[in-house]
Amino acid sequence: MKDLSKLMEQSFRDFFSNNVAIMLLIDPETLKIVDANPAAEKYYGWDHAQLTSMSIAQINTLSSSEIMVEIDKARTQQRNYFRFRHRKADGSICSVEGFSSKVVFGAKELLLSIIHDVTGQEEAEAKLKHNQNLMGYIIEHDSSAVAVHDKNLNYIYVSQQYLDQYKIKDTNIIGRHHYDVFPDLPQKWRDVHQRALKGEVISADADPYLRDDGHTDWTRWECRPWYEANGSIGGMIIYTQIITGEIQTIEELRKLSRAVEQSPASVVITDPKGLIEYVNPKFVETTGYSFEEVKGKNTSILKSGKHADEFYKELWETIKLGKEWKGEFNDKKKNGELYWESASISPIMNNEGKIVNYLAVKEDITERKKMIEDLIAAKERAEHSDRLKSAFLANMSHEIRTPMNSIMGFASLLPDEESRELMTQYANIIVQNSEQLVHVIDGIVLYSRLQAKILTVNACEFKICDLLHDLKQSFSVLNFNADLELHTQNMIGSNALLNTDYEKIRQIYANLISNAFKYTSAGTITIGAEMKNNQVTFYVKDTGVGISKDEIEKIFERFFRGKNVKNGSISGTGLGLSIVKELIDLLGGKIWVESNSDPKLGEKGSTFFFKLSL
Ligand code: ADP
Repeated sequence: MKDLSKLMEQSFRDFFSNNVAIMLLIDPETLKIVDANPAAEKYYGWDHAQLTSMSIAQINTLSSSEIMVEIDKARTQQRNYFRFRHRKADGSICSVEGFSSKVVFGAKELLLSIIHDVTGQEEAEAKLKHNQNLMGYIIEHDSSAVAVHDKNLNYIYVSQQYLDQYKIKDTNIIGRHHYDVFPDLPQKWRDVHQRALKGEVISADADPYLRDDGHTDWTRWECRPWYEANGSIGGMIIYTQIITGEIQTIEELRKLSRAVEQSPASVVITDPKGLIEYVNPKFVETTGYSFEEVKGKNTSILKSGKHADEFYKELWETIKLGKEWKGEFNDKKKNGELYWESASISPIMNNEGKIVNYLAVKEDITERKKMIEDLIAAKERAEHSDRLKSAFLANMSHEIRTPMNSIMGFASLLPDEESRELMTQYANIIVQNSEQLVHVIDGIVLYSRLQAKILTVNACEFKICDLLHDLKQSFSVLNFNADLELHTQNMIGSNALLNTDYEKIRQIYANLISNAFKYTSAGTITIGAEMKNNQVTFYVKDTGVGISKDEIEKIFERFFRGKNVKNGSISGTGLGLSIVKELIDLLGGKIWVESNSDPKLGEKGSTFFFKLSL
């Protein structure tokens, strides 16, 4: 019996000493290391003598009392597996696991610990766990919802987002079949899954997804296979993103951009330096520049030079401060034409409040401006005309009263006058003044008939030289001024014919000739016709007072009387040239005047030209 125990002890010694596994014999009561095998010496770095003089608490990172607790726990729970952290001679800490079992030597009960180093394994496990955690974190925080299936389409992973997105109430879907979770899934999706399981990657940027409650969400999705380590397809992964908000935003933006595109106002967007980034079609239509021509250019290409530098300085100072600027531009189109725009320019800021763009919305107000200018001019004309009318009425009273007074005065003298000679003289004065009165009244009546547009053209054919001759005859008789001569000048031959209203052209000439007599005290009055640019041009030229430059435009206005009437000492109504103008308009012609009222500049006098469309 004793021999047998000796034999067993010897076998244990062999087993202990020659074992490649690290082994320690520990006294569970004192925690002293009773024995250590060569593998343990090698592993810990202490020799046999050192190890057997140490307590296990010097190796274990736990304290003696903690080790005691562990030993007790192992004993009561009949658990002999352990995992500890041990210290080596070089100070390094390693992870160990192993088994402890009771061995009895004589009356002594010892613990045999067979130790296995798991430092690397633990690190690998920790790394794996860390990677898994990281992957999980990434997937859970990805913008896409993720579901992973095996090749039988059973769920092996779903992200919380996936459950939320598809409103899956039963969160315990791992292991369940995809079509069990979505029983009504349309065939389209089933086909996609089959293609993914065959190795295809299928995706869509925006796909409608009909919800159970009837509303449609938009999704962006991708379905792709995943592969086992051996390269075979292990199943499929679905990534989906609900992008309804994004689609709505895009739609909103599309609407806004369409509104800008179709805006009746010009829209210009520049960068902070004023370089053009965008112009809408209305801008292109207004300015004549294409988008390509102005892209990247400064808005100053539209400058017409009509605004002072200060104007632009004030504009930039306003918008750089983040404020809106409103004002009117007189700009230049590509073809050089000037135009007016009413503009509002405002800065566009980013989230940090930094100006990233400027937006100009401009409306072409050229027409409106012109209309306003025309209205102002019309108002001024009306006021002017009103003033002239008042002056006319005052003048009329003078023009009528003067001959009337003469007529009445001399008529009252007649009955008592005995001298035949004086009676004849009075009668002549009465006749002359009556004629003058009739002339004034005729003028007013003719003018009002012209204004009422009740005169018609009675055209007939006549020789121009006959007309000139007739006029010369009539006016020579009336010319009582010995210092004034009347000439005719026919430069277009004696047979030249004209087909127009003889009476009206005669009236035109007559008014111009009587003016020439009125405003010329000495010299010559020449009436004539000549060919100018293949057209017959008539003229009445005098050597009289002339017309000042600033009045040349006004003399055809009704009731207008020039400065040269010398405070009314030259009689008149201001209607003569208005009648001429109206008659020429009626005959479809044109009248103009060349005059020089400054004797220092050469020949004095005026020449009235007119031509008719024949
Ligand atoms: P008026 O009755 O005053 O002559 P008109 O309409 O005939 O009116 O002419 C308008 C104005 O034009 C005149 O008041 C005068 O100042 C100027 N005018 C017209 N004809 C002549 C002319 N031959 N020479 C200088 N001034 C003229």
